[in-house]
Amino acid sequence: LFITFEGGDGAGKSTQVALLTEYLRGRGLEVLHTREPGGTELGLALREAVLHSKNEIVPRAEALIYAADRANNIATRVRPALERGEIVLQDRYLDSSVAYQGSGRDLGADEIRDLSLWATDGVLPDITVLLDIDPVEGRARVTAQRGGLDRLEAEGREFHERVRATFLALAEAEPQRFLVVDATLAPEVIAAQVRARVDAALAA
Ligand code: C5P
Repeated sequence: LFITFEGGDGAGKSTQVALLTEYLRGRGLEVLHTREPGGTELGLALREAVLHSKNEIVPRAEALIYAADRANNIATRVRPALERGEIVLQDRYLDSSVAYQGSGRDLGADEIRDLSLWATDGVLPDITVLLDIDPVEGRARVTAQRGGLDRLEAEGREFHERVRATFLALAEAEPQRFLVVDATLAPEVIAAQVRARVDAALAA
């Protein structure tokens, strides 16, 4: 079972991935908890390069960096774990690329989706949890928690509105894959909604 968590910056994805990991491990299940960008050693270097370098990174280069990170993480960590029958929980995946690079950077949703499918040899999630948040609120949370905004978080409001709208459109197009949750609810309330969806999938 491959479960991804998506949403704007400050939506609380990492909290939810951690809560679900704890819950599933408590049930005695093997869980791989990973994230993008930065799930592998190479990925950490790419994360640093794409988020914190002072170099100019043009949109197509940015898309390729995320795709390279994804290719490596899927091939070396995610696919082997899925083949061992483990549950993989991943913070961000291809929907983030479609939203941020496809829509935010205007590179085109279909092109970015195709690039990601090529990079991963077609790996798609079984369940995607979308934590939906107003970008203004998300930004306020990031500033409060981490005290600073990185290169992409510093993009303007319109960019993040486009990203949010794209996430919601993706969810609407694939309702069987997506669980959309209001990210302003209490973390425990969100976690219960996520557990219910995952429990149902495990029982199926
Ligand atoms: O979720 P996390 O904090 O790890 O994301 C790091 C940054 O990378 C965020 O600012 C996010 O907006 C950005 N990002 C992106 N495109 C992706 C994945 C992440 O712009 N495909």
